[in-house]
Amino acid sequence: MSKKIILAETAGVCFGVERALKKSYEVTDKSEEDVYSFGPIIHNPQVVRHLEEKGVKVIDKFEDAPSGTVMIRAHGVPLGTLSVAKERGLNVVDLTCPIVKKLQHSVKRLAEEAYFIVIVGDKNHPEIIGAISYADPENVMVVDSKSELEDQVFLKKRVGIVAQTTIAFDRFREVVEEFLQRSVEEIKIFNTICDDIFNKQREAVEIAKSVDVMIVIGGKNSSNTTKIAKLCHEVNPNTYQIETADEVPSLGLDLNEKTIGVTAGASTPSWIIEEILNGLEKA
Ligand code: SF4
Repeated sequence: MSKKIILAETAGVCFGVERALKKSYEVTDKSEEDVYSFGPIIHNPQVVRHLEEKGVKVIDKFEDAPSGTVMIRAHGVPLGTLSVAKERGLNVVDLTCPIVKKLQHSVKRLAEEAYFIVIVGDKNHPEIIGAISYADPENVMVVDSKSELEDQVFLKKRVGIVAQTTIAFDRFREVVEEFLQRSVEEIKIFNTICDDIFNKQREAVEIAKSVDVMIVIGGKNSSNTTKIAKLCHEVNPNTYQIETADEVPSLGLDLNEKTIGVTAGASTPSWIIEEILNGLEKA
């Protein structure tokens, strides 16, 4: 038997990233003024470098953009950020993914309806920093998993629960179940997990279970990619996350006569997947 590669049907960019990439290349190619990106447009270092080569500068404060166009990353920004940029005379192109906007609107709605808000996710992720700003921070708790829930939160009468768009569905479900078991009087749940991520995770785990080696392609700073890799690793310890084809030889794997599963995170463009597939064929 020769080497066999199984590529996940759901591998690669989601519609939110595709939209952000398409628009950012359009803006960059057409603009005669300076173009900035507020934070990396997407969490993929190779794409960010490619845009930088075309002249896009990544900034984290508007003072670094004296004039020109500023593109807002797909993960969104805190409330009020867009108006600050506009007040400074910058041309703003908002590339926030519509599904991230749905999370922001869910937090806003829960805050307006006076719920205490529990967000299941990573409190340091830009998407969550942006989402929290739609409520009073005093009335928001961010937990990575149910083990981080503190007892006093179960004393709240009205609790609203949402999720970071890219978290594993089981982590969200476990937190929701904990509130149900503790008999909190009123619970409102918005399922803000992105379908694309959910499908990617499910397919990747199924493939990982049946192959000798699982390769997950995507930025090491990409939350959705590292989560897919972690889930695959739980069912197949021979799981490796890589960003580029150059990393294939350094894995030191003997792939002869092996079945290799491949998937890629939502911020991995097709040209990177192609390069890695070629690298695996030759390895
Ligand atoms: S993974 Fe989902 S939420 Fe994140 S950018 Fe893509 S479509 Fe939007």
